[in-house]
Amino acid sequence: MGKIIGITGGIASGKSTVTNFLRQKGFQVVDADALVHQLQKPGGRLFKALVQHFGQEIILENGALNRPLLASLIFSNTEEREWSKQIQGEIIREELARLRDQLAQTEEIFFMDIPLLFEQDYASWFDETWLVYVEPDVQMERLMKRDQLSKDLAISRLSAQWLLEEKKGLASQVIDNNGSQDQLLAQLNSLLERSDQD
Ligand code: ADP
Repeated sequence: MGKIIGITGGIASGKSTVTNFLRQKGFQVVDADALVHQLQKPGGRLFKALVQHFGQEIILENGALNRPLLASLIFSNTEEREWSKQIQGEIIREELARLRDQLAQTEEIFFMDIPLLFEQDYASWFDETWLVYVEPDVQMERLMKRDQLSKDLAISRLSAQWLLEEKKGLASQVIDNNGSQDQLLAQLNSLLERSDQD
């Protein structure tokens, strides 16, 4: 029986560190953020849906989306915000489902990294969900360092998200990333060994 494992966490909790390791081990990992980025590029499904709705004015001369204009159109208007949330949510879900179904044909075990896995109700897609967990102060420190953010900006990014603590009770495995990267990898190795035996 094949197994699909959902990876989630919060900003700077260590999801990419985990998925890089899984890829090195030879596993396929679907990256939801990278998919969204692809879909927003010229010709992508999200790009087309947004241009169809808002018109050519949201395209820059170089062909890419004018993100600041788009953000102001969407965030200044509740109806547009709802429309955008809904249509983007639907398209992303369809495209993720397509990738999932494709990989299910060839892979015994594969992973999907979905930052909003619980918020957007993806949990039922998975045989297991792995939460990459860090304490709030470690998360803040790593976020500030990685993205060169001031404390205020880091706090505002973090406060826009669910607390990782809230996701703990929802995940089938909690991976503790408060320690070193070696400690993180050791936990992953034992989870992988266990998954192989199932
Ligand atoms: P995410 O993908 O969840 O946003 P990352 O994997 O990019 O998070 O990790 C956030 C930052 O913390 C990165 O700079 C990464 O190198 C660093 N990091 C991740 N795990 C550890 C760890 N165990 N010890 C120290 N730094 C870490």
